Amino acid sequence: MSTFDSFNPVTGTSVGQHAITSKEDVDAAVASAREVAPFWQALDFKGRKKALLKWSDFLLENISDLVDIVSLETGKPTSDATLEASLAISHLGWAARHAEEVLRTAHRSPGLLMANMSATVERNPLGVVGVIGPWNYPVYTPMGSISYALAAGNTVVFKPSEYTPAVGKFLADSFLEATGLSDVFICVTGLGETGKYLCESGVNKLAFTGSTATAKRVAATCALTMTPVVLECGGKDPVIVDRDADLKRAADATIWSAMSNAGQTCIGAERVYVHEDVAEQFIDHCLRIASSIKPGEPGVGNYGPATMPKQLGIIEGHIKDAIAKGGRVLLGGAESVHAPFVDPVIIADVPEDSTAITEETFGPTLVINRVATMQEAIALTNASRYGLGASVWSKRNGKKIARSLECGMVAINSVIAFAAIASIPFGGVKDSGYGRIHGPEGILEFTYPRSVVRTRFHLPIAFTSFKRTAASDQLIIKINKLLKGRFG
Ligand code: NDP
Repeated sequence: MSTFDSFNPVTGTSVGQHAITSKEDVDAAVASAREVAPFWQALDFKGRKKALLKWSDFLLENISDLVDIVSLETGKPTSDATLEASLAISHLGWAARHAEEVLRTAHRSPGLLMANMSATVERNPLGVVGVIGPWNYPVYTPMGSISYALAAGNTVVFKPSEYTPAVGKFLADSFLEATGLSDVFICVTGLGETGKYLCESGVNKLAFTGSTATAKRVAATCALTMTPVVLECGGKDPVIVDRDADLKRAADATIWSAMSNAGQTCIGAERVYVHEDVAEQFIDHCLRIASSIKPGEPGVGNYGPATMPKQLGIIEGHIKDAIAKGGRVLLGGAESVHAPFVDPVIIADVPEDSTAITEETFGPTLVINRVATMQEAIALTNASRYGLGASVWSKRNGKKIARSLECGMVAINSVIAFAAIASIPFGGVKDSGYGRIHGPEGILEFTYPRSVVRTRFHLPIAFTSFKRTAASDQLIIKINKLLKGRFG
């Protein structure tokens, strides 16, 4: 069996060896998950809720073990790993408790012409759901798909990132230990190829989180087997600061959103559009906060290293490009990148065609650009090919600005809060992906609707019969005219 190592990104040393799961073994895992799917479905909502809440209790009892693994494989501070795990567990609980009510059979009006029928829509699990996860939030992000897919009655095969395989294994092992149920939730470790095998395996849906480039490859592979996909990809999330904003709060939240987790947050702040009347004040607050934080190993830094070494080159490239195009460095610079860490970097007045504005940087860097009006901020926000999240700071105009943004989630006078609220959907538009996890939409995403109609009483005129006469055709036209087409 071939293996690969996972590393501590702070020291670069190996912290574990894991199987590179072959195509045959991925197929076997999906077959096992498929075999047990009818049992998991037959447990029904109550049985699944019980099992998932047992798992949730187990995770809470053993949260420090999970946090240690997350911190070891990503380098993030244990307090950040604790927050991440806690949020993921709260989503698991929400999905377990709400699946029944969300998936309850819906009764619909059959319309006047079909008044003799009852019309219902049932929601059915898809079967086996494949989940491919990233390394930046290796618990929270994949659990947004895993918890909701399981609660909806599917079994799951999960391929974690090659940077965080032990986290993936912990999640699947803990499910087994807490519930005693094998093959309901299986983890297959490996490199990108293993993810590709999962896309080719015939799973009934594939939920992917990661880069837009890989998402396109995933969608293309899945298209060959008509496997539907949910794609949660990158972002270039803006913070819009109006002149009536609480600038201190806005700066504090923006710097945290941009720099925490070393900037490796898909919904983290990457660019700011601040009203020119308050720009200097806002920048002063940002600089004060950003100069007081530093990266370091867990227990030392406010945030950790770049988990993925190759990201360092991308971050440095974006900083250099912004400066070369005329951006004004306010804090740090290209020299702030010193492997494996990156010190906070703030650059102002960056041209909109530089990579620091057009591409996901995924580092503790922030661009702050001034705008003359909020219309300009909205236009620049919407000019991006991404549309994941956004943050708007204004005492009076928050809702109005939020409504004009082309993105999946907006926090007004806050950052990222939508990710912590289990009852609302998470996802983006444009190159940030499609489909939704979390909330009722996230449960529905892992089901398909089945319409069931039933004859309640027979009409004297049979419309669905070869016995239909010219008189009954005339009657349909007459009723239609009378109701002006409002049959439904
Ligand atoms: P990828 O998108 O390459 O990886 C995400 C997941 O997809 C991993 O589990 C990866 O496996 C898997 N994968 C890779 N290739 C394939 C394939 N052909 N078919 C199926 N699955 C595949 O992200 P990276 O980790 O390489 O990060 C690259 C960039 O993506 C980052 O710089 C960042 O900008 C962005 N990113 C965004 C995230 C977000 O939340 N929006 C999260 C992570 C990254 P493996 O790790 O084994 O290669």
